[in-house]
Amino acid sequence: MKTNWTRRNFIKASSATAIGSVAALAANHSIFALGDNVSEPAILGGSPAHSSGWQNWPQWDAADDPFIADVMHKLVWSRSKLVTQFEEEWAQMIGTNHCLAVVNGTNALSAALMQLDINPTDEVIIAPYTFSASLLGVLYQKAMPIFADIDPLTYQINPEAIRAKITPRTKAILPVHICGFPSDMENIMKIAKEHNLFVVEDCCQAHLASIHGKKVGSFGNAGCFSFQTSKVLPIGEGGGITTDDADYKNRLYSYHNYGYDPKVAPGAYNSIAAFLVGNKIRMAEYQAAIGLCQLKKLETQNRLRNENGDYLTSQIKDIPGITPVKKYDGVDSVSYYMYPFIYDENEFKGLPREKFLQALQAEGIPASAGYPNCPIYTQEFIHEAFKSDVYQKFYSPEELDFNVYKEKNHCPGLIQTFETSIWINSSGMFLGSKDDMSDIVLALDKIHKNAEKIKNA
Ligand SMILES: *Cc1c(COP(=O)(O)O)cnc(C)c1O
Repeated sequence: MKTNWTRRNFIKASSATAIGSVAALAANHSIFALGDNVSEPAILGGSPAHSSGWQNWPQWDAADDPFIADVMHKLVWSRSKLVTQFEEEWAQMIGTNHCLAVVNGTNALSAALMQLDINPTDEVIIAPYTFSASLLGVLYQKAMPIFADIDPLTYQINPEAIRAKITPRTKAILPVHICGFPSDMENIMKIAKEHNLFVVEDCCQAHLASIHGKKVGSFGNAGCFSFQTSKVLPIGEGGGITTDDADYKNRLYSYHNYGYDPKVAPGAYNSIAAFLVGNKIRMAEYQAAIGLCQLKKLETQNRLRNENGDYLTSQIKDIPGITPVKKYDGVDSVSYYMYPFIYDENEFKGLPREKFLQALQAEGIPASAGYPNCPIYTQEFIHEAFKSDVYQKFYSPEELDFNVYKEKNHCPGLIQTFETSIWINSSGMFLGSKDDMSDIVLALDKIHKNAEKIKNA
């Protein structure tokens, strides 16, 4: 490990790793005179590695209160100028010609797929390390979700696994930039071009993540974002679709406003102007106002999260049994919605992951195991869709046999990830200081050194 420690952490680490004399340190630092026992794991009664708390997420700046109050008092609450401004700023930030703001990420994804004319019997190749929201749009279109395994070192859909799943019926690829890490978009786009496939990126966790300076959401035909409370651009609810294609943007615009001609102003009711089967998924004016306030801070926050993320990775990569999730070559920004790493209990004297997590929590480092070990291709909602008349009409009984489906879509890399992942929810935590990161290092180091004791306790 590097020795770029602050004094505070040097003292803790010295004690934890028994370099130097604790007695000598104690003479100089009253913290030890008070009986602070930081070398002992907190779960066994020692002092926690981190006790000063973490920044919460989401955050709101009181300085933005007057702007929001003004929007409310103007009484223009439905889509108007601010939504347009938010769309323009978001498109500019992502580097696309257009953005359409919608109600949430789930509807961004389903609208994007619908307006690409994904239809029954079409196959959509999708990343399995996600939850239902990523693929509901595939099922709405009565298309067939086909899962291609992830690389357990990057957590992202593996381009070679995509290749192996392509058939004459494949129409689109749906990568999910999970945890805010970019998928291997350069290779995915290569495959899409070779096979003439659409690409819809699920960027719901990956705001401002980029590869060679190009932001995710600008690679595929559509980039779908969520602005739900937990995401790094939090509005409460909200979504966005980024694209370079003006005709596609117009179709999406129409769809999001009852199917009306895009020239019809939101709020005008003119069903004669409807030219496609629309929906009503408009973002409200005050949501855009909140988004514009949050947007001002996003780049600074993103930079800080990346500095802290890179620093933490450099400090923990040599702790045996801890493997930070790998970025693909060329990745120059991660959103750090989560900071995930791979836990190998064998390097921790067989300390089970559950117990490791408890020990980490006790050190003042909140963390979870990530998505539960229940692969999406085994979940009942897909089975339920397959039982519907419309699926039965378009697909053979063999294709709809759920046991066969589960078998065909089995992803061993995903299962391995379910069993070994640790997620630190970094959205708020990584807005802290380097000292805070060093506390995480200290906690992991302490648990590693005392794994046997913790296991047997
Ligand atoms: C949050 C999320 C969604 C859905 O976004 P909502 O705004 O909550 O509808 C879709 N995919 C992923 C990967 C997400 O994290």
